[in-house]
Amino acid sequence: KKRNPGQPEFVQAVQEVAEDIYDFIEDKEQYHAQQILRRIAEPDRVISFRVCWQDDAGNIRVQRGWRVQNNNAIGPYKGGIRFHPSVTESVLKFLAFEQTFKNALTGLPMGGGKGGANFNPKGKSDGEVMRFCQSFMTELYRHIGADVDVPAGDIGVGGREIGYMFGQYKRITNQFTGVLTGKGLEYGGSLIRTEATGYGAVYFLLEMLKTRGQDLIGKQAVISGSGNVATHAAEKVVQLGGKVLTFSDSQGFIHDPDGIDQEKINWVKEHKTKRRGRISEYADAFKGATFHEGQTPWGVTCDVALPCATQNELLGDDARTLVKNGCIAVAEGANMPTNLEGVHVFKDARILFAPGKAANAGGVAVSGLEMSQNSQRRAWKEDDLQVLLVDIMQGIHASASAYGKVSADYTDYVKGANIAGFKKVADAMLAFGVV
Ligand code: NDP
Repeated sequence: KKRNPGQPEFVQAVQEVAEDIYDFIEDKEQYHAQQILRRIAEPDRVISFRVCWQDDAGNIRVQRGWRVQNNNAIGPYKGGIRFHPSVTESVLKFLAFEQTFKNALTGLPMGGGKGGANFNPKGKSDGEVMRFCQSFMTELYRHIGADVDVPAGDIGVGGREIGYMFGQYKRITNQFTGVLTGKGLEYGGSLIRTEATGYGAVYFLLEMLKTRGQDLIGKQAVISGSGNVATHAAEKVVQLGGKVLTFSDSQGFIHDPDGIDQEKINWVKEHKTKRRGRISEYADAFKGATFHEGQTPWGVTCDVALPCATQNELLGDDARTLVKNGCIAVAEGANMPTNLEGVHVFKDARILFAPGKAANAGGVAVSGLEMSQNSQRRAWKEDDLQVLLVDIMQGIHASASAYGKVSADYTDYVKGANIAGFKKVADAMLAFGVV
């Protein structure tokens, strides 16, 4: 805390990992002597820059942009770009730190990074978003590269924004390289990248359920968020026989007791990404659904929960409510949606709980595959990619289980994921000496 004043999210993320790692490294002198955890918790560099752009009314607007390059011990820095008014250096440092462990867990050669700006894309015209993205890339381009740092999308950055940023990168450098992932299929993007995070989170959930002889058929699922991760998680839950009851956004949540089927999910995707509407309008569009302003969906009785919106959206009391209502499994689609108190509630109740760094790694894994396809200058088939995604998620489940097994009937996946991710990065750092 003293080292990082005013950075509560970053301190929270490091504290969570440190709690698990201390036990593991207690009898391993090499990690202590080399101060490995402290080195991973100090980003390689934090770049901060001005992003100046002109709105439609001709006003000059000034935003702050960042790229946090946390660690490149096992591959080029890799991690998304977030555009949201809540973006701060603390938020991006926590995300870059988490990303380092997550990327290691995928088994692919990717280091950890994250970037973004305190820009609010809501209510902005297409032209304003384009000008902002171009201005952002006009500074960012000098810090990234296909073998250096490969950003992707995150909250507020989808296909449209990646397109504008890739276009500007290409224009400045005159190079067509795989410098961003999440690209459109026409210009080097990968099939299933859009679906991968949400689908992957549900594959991880299924792996956890299997350890208790269960699956998703007939299970009631509560999901938060209504963006990329939430809608694709919902799609996979429905495909695997479950029933989705909720979606949310920053204004509240909707509850549809009849279940949100594929047709309704398609409506939400269209509504949020094309019309850029609010989730509250779902309750006007579908009979029987209700909107709950300013609330999160954790009070709705369910078997499984998937927080897929943002950090610290599921607090200690929410966790207690979920457990009391009989929820048996939680898989984090978002990054750090559950606060530390909530994580402890889930651990104490011994329910199946998958932290974001394990459960939501499917997106970056397919990004890693997009990088491979770009390097080879070819596009792999959808079926092959689907198989690889399932395989990677099962691999992450196996690694987290190997280091997180507490007893025959309980696995601490948080601990398992932290240790497995740490070990890979730490061992690479040991090989490099003091750098
Ligand atoms: P989107 O921008 O597509 O959707 C974000 C969703 O979360 C929206 O419904 C948004 O509502 C809601 N939200 C954002 N901020 C807040 C807030 N402060 N309070 C309540 N709700 C909020 O983003 P993604 O779906 O891509 O990302 C969601 C989460 O998943 C993030 O934590 C992200 O880091 C994580 N993630 C994403 C990956 C990806 O591949 N996209 C990969 C791995 C993790 P509103 O419209 O009102 O803003």
